[in-house]
Amino acid sequence: MPTVTRRPRVILLASARTYRSRPFLEAARRLGLEVVTGKDVPLPMLKKIEAGLPLDYRDLRKSTDAIVRYAEKHPVGAIVGLDDSGTLLAARASAVLGLPYNSPEAAEAARNKHVMRKRFAEAGVLSPRFRLVHLEDAPRKIADEICYPCVLKPTALAGSRGVMRADNPQEFIERHERLRRILVSEGCEELLVEDFIPGVEVALEGLLDDGMLTVLALFDKPDPLEGPFFEETIYITPSRLPFETRRSIYEATAKAAAALGLRVGPIHAELRVNERGPWLVEVAARSIGGLCSQTLRFGTDMSLEELVLRKAFGMEIVSLQRDGRAGGVMMIPIPEAGLLKRVEGCEEARAAPLVESLEITAKLNYPLVPLPEGDSYLGFIFARGDTPEEVEAALREAHGKLRFDIVPEIPLASVHEDV
Ligand code: ADP
Ligand code: CA
Repeated sequence: MPTVTRRPRVILLASARTYRSRPFLEAARRLGLEVVTGKDVPLPMLKKIEAGLPLDYRDLRKSTDAIVRYAEKHPVGAIVGLDDSGTLLAARASAVLGLPYNSPEAAEAARNKHVMRKRFAEAGVLSPRFRLVHLEDAPRKIADEICYPCVLKPTALAGSRGVMRADNPQEFIERHERLRRILVSEGCEELLVEDFIPGVEVALEGLLDDGMLTVLALFDKPDPLEGPFFEETIYITPSRLPFETRRSIYEATAKAAAALGLRVGPIHAELRVNERGPWLVEVAARSIGGLCSQTLRFGTDMSLEELVLRKAFGMEIVSLQRDGRAGGVMMIPIPEAGLLKRVEGCEEARAAPLVESLEITAKLNYPLVPLPEGDSYLGFIFARGDTPEEVEAALREAHGKLRFDIVPEIPLASVHEDV
């Protein structure tokens, strides 16, 4: 009888909206892994979908049970959460099945900004003062009690959605109302109010192994993020910050990850640096978002996603070295609300020096929602060159060649229906 060798199986967990599935699926294919995707599907669809592993992420207990039942029948080598919602579920299911992953408590601390701030404060990690506010609390009273400038934010959304700065009580009350509407639409009841931390911002991509942090890349964010909304645009690596500053960022991130109890897998941290040192904005227990991981290649052309999966399966990683060149991405911001009719100048942008690729990810004829209510981008531009300066210039030049035709959505005034 020929022996049947089974391919190792991985469960990938991510919300349907994630950009990260594609690179993870490609990496899994390269590694010969069998992939099962645990998609987040709306409740009414749950019973109708038979293929794969459909889940309702809002019900963590039921979803965990469904994964465990599946894994009992189909042996699984690892469960990997690709985005913030997936990491929580991956941690819970891994804990039940005895698979290596971060503990559910650590995953929760990396997901919930209030729990995160408490852990940072307890561990002496430099992080803004904060206050949890319930939507039932009167904003007028809070407005008089807090310090300015401050930042209002949801406790568990992402992509800077709902994150707003307020410089005085009146702005606080206005922005509180704006955030309240977002939170109600998401079924959330609380928000966080923090001191505004001035400084330059960086993002750190790292990999944890038994609690030890390896820094894979440090990105500068050269566009100032001063508010009132915090739109991400350009990420450039390597960082141009001095060596000592970079080292203090690495140390602060390692301390922050430990404070949350994170021990394995990828982390994506954001910090703001000023004269007091690096302040933690957040540490997420996942790899970088959007399509941004395309800026990173390791060893002989390995993707970040392949690295993450290799780590999860204990496969060999020959080198974590990057190619030594500078790389960058621009997340193309949404300039205004409306319907995207056309994008012009794509060919010119693609042909600009050092530009590697341009991807428009927003759909034509669909509504565009800018920050703070939205959380997506028009697309991504990638560039690579010898220095961070020339990569940054290339991204700006390419972006300057794009023209977006956005028309207002026609509001529905009233409906006169003949019955
Ligand atoms: P999200 O998880 O939605 O990305 P973050 O907490 O990371 O939310 O906030 C998004 C951005 O808002 C940050 O990258 C930073 O630029 C800005 N920001 C958030 N909190 C603060 C703060 N306390 N002080 C200054 N800027 C902040
Ligand atoms: Ca963030």
